[in-house]
Amino acid sequence: MEFSAVLEPIEDLGTEAGVRLLVDDAFAGGRCRDCGDLSVPRAHICRRCRSVEVEAARIGGRGLLYSYTRVHVAPKCAAPYCLGYVDLVSGVRVLGRLEMSESSLACDIPVRAARTGAGEEEWAFVEAEDVRGDERNEGIA
Ligand SMILES: [Zn+2]
Repeated sequence: MEFSAVLEPIEDLGTEAGVRLLVDDAFAGGRCRDCGDLSVPRAHICRRCRSVEVEAARIGGRGLLYSYTRVHVAPKCAAPYCLGYVDLVSGVRVLGRLEMSESSLACDIPVRAARTGAGEEEWAFVEAEDVRGDERNEGIA
């Protein structure tokens, strides 16, 4: 098999340094100008159509807990703590720390992103009222 595509160097795909991922109650994400795909954090290259035309977009921080786990060994913070994948109302799936009672954790419970401190990475998902049918937080601006 022969590949004819030319792969050019791309920027680091990580979060931009000094940029807060969560501002107020919304994520600093991105939206592809070509196909509309949303990303959190803002993607440099669209994962759906590979366009580099990804503009900044606020993505609402409310959603449903898709799945979760307990972390017992952590490099920088006290363990154990819980991590979860959250399906935001906009459809974007985000991995984040869960700050709530472990006994209340269950798949499909409503959660919202909230700041837990002043640092760039100091945010977590916390319990929220039901988000199903809440289009206000689809969150694209
Ligand atoms: Zn796209």
